[in-house]
Amino acid sequence: METTTQTTANGFRRLHTLYAAGPEHWVGDGFRVRTVFHPSLNAGLLSPFVLLDHAARMHFEPSTVQRGVGEHPHRGFETVTFAFAGEVEHRDSSGGGGRIGPGDVQWMTAASGVVHEEMHSRAFTEAGGDFEMVQLWVNLPAAEKMGKPGYQSLLDGQFPRTKLGAATGRLIAGHLHGETGPAKTHTPMTIVDLNFDEDGDAHMELPSEWTTLVCSLEGELTAGDPLRPIPPEQVGAFARGGSGITRLRGSRGSHALVLAGQPLNEPVVAHGPFVMNNHDEIVTAMRDYQSGKMGSLP
Ligand code: MN
Repeated sequence: METTTQTTANGFRRLHTLYAAGPEHWVGDGFRVRTVFHPSLNAGLLSPFVLLDHAARMHFEPSTVQRGVGEHPHRGFETVTFAFAGEVEHRDSSGGGGRIGPGDVQWMTAASGVVHEEMHSRAFTEAGGDFEMVQLWVNLPAAEKMGKPGYQSLLDGQFPRTKLGAATGRLIAGHLHGETGPAKTHTPMTIVDLNFDEDGDAHMELPSEWTTLVCSLEGELTAGDPLRPIPPEQVGAFARGGSGITRLRGSRGSHALVLAGQPLNEPVVAHGPFVMNNHDEIVTAMRDYQSGKMGSLP
């Protein structure tokens, strides 16, 4: 990991790594996604964030059969689903469940294990329409991987709006410029959904020792100092250290997710739907799922 560069003469943090999304693939029959980052890139640089899938905006025709991804397990982390267009329904073996629509966020803590399904809502299926989602995987510290599963349904109206220069940030989790987002997190982090209202700069003061990732979803975006482009469906990681400010420059209509968090500094072994600290724990997770210890859907 790079530790030498911090900030520049302007006091802005430097953008030091860019990752581009992989090829398009389907998750079940409901989510046409590209994986923007995943742990085999550089788990330490990304921590506490593990993976991000973007289901870019696409149109679904009306249907009588609900599309989505059927029953599957997770253990050791949290799945955070951001709905930008369309509606998804979720239900899981711990009794969690709900429906989220545009602007809402579903924060599912798998911890010791859940089995769940993620489907287009019945109403969206019948009506059809545009669909866009992001699913982010947030790691749990070793001490909490085998904790109790949880579920938070966070609605658009709950997120504080913060004007950040040319952009408006919706604060999903953590603290930013005196505001606090509603999501309960297991380790310190700040997550902002950022939309540019006009061409210009957005500056954010975020703890400089934290991982800071900016995932561009739509529109033109440059970041850091010197300014470097982050094309759509790429993620930029900022250098840690120093006392700098995270600088983004966007054009009107640009959309990005800002993910900042205290790194866990623990080994990451990810395999399919499980994110643990070592291989033995992955084997145990597979066995526990197969023997029904993660429960089943009602
Ligand atoms: Mn899932």
